[in-house]
Amino acid sequence: MGDTRHVPRWVRGMDSWPLWSLPRRLTVFVVTVIVLDLTAIGVAASRTTVYVHDLGIFGLLMLCTAASVELSRKVGEKGGMIKDVHGVWELPVAILLPPLFALLAPIPRIALLQWRVRHAPLHRRVFSCASIGLSLGAASVTYHGASALIAVGPEGYLGRGTAWILLMIGCAFLQLALNKTMIMTAVKSADPGTSIRNEVFRREPLYNDLAELSIAVLVTYGVAGNPLLALPALPVVTLLQRSLRHAQLLSESRADSKTGLLNAATWEREAAAEVARALRTGAPLAVALLDLDRFKAINDTHGHLLGDQVLREIAGALTSVLRDYDLAGRFGGEEFVMLLPQTRAVDAFRIAERVRAHISRLPIYAAGGTERVPVTVSIGVAALDAGSRRELPELLAAADAALYSAKASGRNQVQMISTSRGLSAARPAVPDKPPALRPADQPAAQPPPGVAAELGTASTARTSSVAV
Ligand code: GH3
Ligand code: MG
Ligand code: MG
Repeated sequence: MGDTRHVPRWVRGMDSWPLWSLPRRLTVFVVTVIVLDLTAIGVAASRTTVYVHDLGIFGLLMLCTAASVELSRKVGEKGGMIKDVHGVWELPVAILLPPLFALLAPIPRIALLQWRVRHAPLHRRVFSCASIGLSLGAASVTYHGASALIAVGPEGYLGRGTAWILLMIGCAFLQLALNKTMIMTAVKSADPGTSIRNEVFRREPLYNDLAELSIAVLVTYGVAGNPLLALPALPVVTLLQRSLRHAQLLSESRADSKTGLLNAATWEREAAAEVARALRTGAPLAVALLDLDRFKAINDTHGHLLGDQVLREIAGALTSVLRDYDLAGRFGGEEFVMLLPQTRAVDAFRIAERVRAHISRLPIYAAGGTERVPVTVSIGVAALDAGSRRELPELLAAADAALYSAKASGRNQVQMISTSRGLSAARPAVPDKPPALRPADQPAAQPPPGVAAELGTASTARTSSVAV
């Protein structure tokens, strides 16, 4: 081995970078995006003549970036997928200056966030920087190419001014789409359980992106007229960033951090309100408790990281199978809970069965493995039938009793209790290996996995005999 004393420490420590411990495909993707960005910067630098005027505008916009990061520093930054509005200052760079500046624009912002706001893993910051830089560079090249055509083309029906504004808006959307595609590709390969619909297409993130894009377009238009107009935009951007962070904090306090579903306290509060409404209006409603089968064995065999991935996949499955107005929550550990408003017993059973079947087919693989890890769940359902006066705790106890019965009957199945029969049920804590059922609890005939004893009359008399 040669003398490594003169090699900088960061180069010597390269082989321990967390980047290399990511899944192979993700590492390749991240490195490719970073190399592409560096290449684009090199090519653009070799072809760009830098003018003092351009440097002045770039400097002013970077100062605004630094000021808005600094002014909203106290509210912190969300972990995981980062959403902020500091990008408002980067669209004007892409539209008003040569593409080289667009490629460079995210570097000071990301460095400042890392230094002043939150220490995130370095490879994530560098990847975000490259992804934003490339998408801004593409928007910039597109804008400059197309605006040259507009300038020499005939004056159209709309007029050149309007054509330029439309082009600018189109380029802003292009930048957003390219950046989201790269980021979501990375997030999805790091965690296949991530729901793109949830992260990108829910009302909240869409509204956030639209607000950022609209202000970015206005700032670009203003700065094109007079760069000093960036200054009055600064408080607006800072306010927007703070209100975005406030909304994030609010939703974080409602969510379970591992799965993104409602946490137990929030679920119970919202579910209790739904049950009260159903009791008042006489509407049907059902509650379902879901517990992973033999989850401890999955953890023991494949490790807790895969166990956590399974939990996120289950959450994704619930989100995709349930309707928008259903409430899904993580009750704790490997137990999930669902509230199905406006749902009769027979439909609740069908929905729970669909959830069970969907989960049993989830393509979950251990890191580097090719063999699918089979994951199944047992579900207990309790329905609030017409005329029943059960409150949420009684419904949950009934669902719990049905879940116990599903476990005891062989797992990977749904069982249901109808509350109109005056049921008061509870189950004792399930030990590692559930005890054999007492004769009174023993089902007359074992239902095949996934099928409850009697659909429709699914008030399972045997579970109602479990001692309270
Ligand atoms: P059963 O079919 O009877 O439900 O068996 P089980 O193994 O699923 O049930 P048990 O209660 O014996 O084990 C639950 C396991 O869930 C034990 C615990 O390590 C695991 N667990 C709970 N919370 C988490 C979590 O957040 N992440 C991971 N990876 N595992 C968790
Ligand atoms: Mg459990
Ligand atoms: Mg379990």
